[in-house]
Amino acid sequence: MKTIYRMMAMTTLMAASLTSAKAQTDHAFPYSDERFADLQMLRYEVKDFDKLTLRQKTFIFYLQEAAQLGRDILYDQNGKYNLRIRKAFELIYEHYAGDRTDSQYLAFEEYLKRMWFSNGIHHHYGCEKFVPAFTREWLLDALASVPSKHFTHLGQPFLTETAGTPWRQTVDGWLADNNLYEVIFNPDVLAKRVNLASGQDLVLTSASNYYDGVTQQEAEDFYMAMKDPSDPHPVMYGMNSRLVKRDGKIQELRWTTDGLYGAALRRIVEKLEQALPYADDKEQQAVIEKLIEFYRTGDLHTFDDYTILWAGNTEPLVDFVNGFTECYGDPLGLKCSWESIVNFKDLEATKRTETLSRNAQWFEDNSPVDNRFKKSEVKGISAKVITAAMLGGDLYPSTAIGINLPNSDWVRKEHGSKSVTIGNLTEAYNMAAKGSGFGKEFVISQEMRDLIDKYGDVTDDLHTDLHECLGHGSGRLLDGVDSDSLKAYGSTIEEARADLFGLYYVADPKMQELGLVPDAEAYKAQYYTYMQNGLLTQLVRIQLGNDIEEAHMRNRALIAHWCYEQGKADNVVELVRRDGKTYVQVNDFAKLRTLFGRLLAEIQRVKSEGDYAGAQALVETYGVKIDPELHREILDRYTKLNLAPYKGFINPVYTAQRDADGNITDVVVTYGESYAGQMMRYSRENATLPLVNE
Ligand code: ZN
Repeated sequence: MKTIYRMMAMTTLMAASLTSAKAQTDHAFPYSDERFADLQMLRYEVKDFDKLTLRQKTFIFYLQEAAQLGRDILYDQNGKYNLRIRKAFELIYEHYAGDRTDSQYLAFEEYLKRMWFSNGIHHHYGCEKFVPAFTREWLLDALASVPSKHFTHLGQPFLTETAGTPWRQTVDGWLADNNLYEVIFNPDVLAKRVNLASGQDLVLTSASNYYDGVTQQEAEDFYMAMKDPSDPHPVMYGMNSRLVKRDGKIQELRWTTDGLYGAALRRIVEKLEQALPYADDKEQQAVIEKLIEFYRTGDLHTFDDYTILWAGNTEPLVDFVNGFTECYGDPLGLKCSWESIVNFKDLEATKRTETLSRNAQWFEDNSPVDNRFKKSEVKGISAKVITAAMLGGDLYPSTAIGINLPNSDWVRKEHGSKSVTIGNLTEAYNMAAKGSGFGKEFVISQEMRDLIDKYGDVTDDLHTDLHECLGHGSGRLLDGVDSDSLKAYGSTIEEARADLFGLYYVADPKMQELGLVPDAEAYKAQYYTYMQNGLLTQLVRIQLGNDIEEAHMRNRALIAHWCYEQGKADNVVELVRRDGKTYVQVNDFAKLRTLFGRLLAEIQRVKSEGDYAGAQALVETYGVKIDPELHREILDRYTKLNLAPYKGFINPVYTAQRDADGNITDVVVTYGESYAGQMMRYSRENATLPLVNE
């Protein structure tokens, strides 16, 4: 599970609120880079990399190479035409000889930059397909202007000239035969990457490439038949395969070194093997060996063994995620997209999360949840603040700021989980948001802005820590409840549970007692920004007329709207209109906390009992629909600020210095690479898969 983005308000309200520790490190690092469409590119600094030992640097060097090699897997998971489209577009980008200031070219270039950002042709967050502002004719002319000798992939030509046929006609035929005109230009074809709209066949209407030729019912039946309800240690069926119908038979194409995506996985394994000797200890070597075994066999019990080893390996400074991990891209929440992050512990900041995890049992025991749904013994929650060294796959360029893994319920229950907050990414968000004007536009009063300036930073970090390191790890399913019972509502309910846990406790006197907040007022900054975000400002991420679909956004809307409605009688939270603008006003912070607690208890009940109808009612009533008038107003106000609602990161570049024998003598990190330069280099150096993977 991951926390994607800070809540909107947080990333943009920080202007004057940086702590002295951050101010001291505020040198001229270029946090902000280029801006296009609805996207802002940022950079993160890998602080203290130079203080690592040569062994640690070398370990990171190979792991960060492995982190880049699954990029093609993700493109193909996100849509079966993505690799072909990327190839064609990059050919134009590299070789186009026409006018590069022409409006058609500029529209094409923006499309390509958005595609790189999304690892495919659908918006990374809203999931809607991009609408090209260049024409079909222009695309054909541009691609046909590229000499045929450049039409190679993985060293082999994929389109050649035929004697007697004009090249333009050959290119036209390739685009048509591969269905690319339809896929790019017809808005009705593959319109959404992940479709969660109720009442439709979610599998058939989602463009992500996890199923082929099977209906939602067939997919659900297929996996239901595999499950043994009495198995206390169920594997995550379907997490590493595409489900297809071939000759009328439904079967899985596994992602293994000799199966689907094998070429990419073999390269990843090669890099993991190079990293292996530099691991911190024997236990960490065993983690990597088990991961390699899983990539080779695709055996889901091996995967569970791997995650158990990984979750228990908490000592080493350097750590990583590499593999099929999160299931947000599958409308059924079964299939996992490939991602990687390489990181090392921020020892100073980790003291904060260690304080929380040391007290994990206290939090579990004192939560407002029914005792039947609590863990009698909270196991091994290890929490740390990390410095990201490299992002890859589904964590790049758009990324998480907190991660809690593994995702298997029984592994978490019996072996614990690892929870991380990614400190240097949060810092980059905050630094880049200086002086954006967002708070002035949306926060109701100067008094509230001052409060947020003063406490927003610390309570936001704390909320992320609570969400990741305690929230997701808290609670238990009743015996016999299937962890997939909430189906398409599962992710939203799980995120709501973790957010509510954080909201409830950020206001607890225990926080002051543990020295985690400066005073009893601090939590109000978090409460205000959470309600403002859930009721108003997160809408800037959604196009007018669309519903809320993404799980984290649904969760925030659900929490904010439920509390708003339930608190109406006591006037707990108000929406105030002033000069045609809507603001959130919190009238009673203490009562708001009570509401968070009540909803936490209810959400935990829904999860613990596997109450599908309950989940559906909560999500559909509070988390999906948007008041169109309010939506328009928020978008108008936001547009005037000229800010990008989505942000992502350009990776640093690692260069190994070697002696005459090829041994690494040092690793140097630099930050100068441009966004397009990085994407084109990755496509060159990390291309692993054929254009068609079936
Ligand atoms: Zn989460």
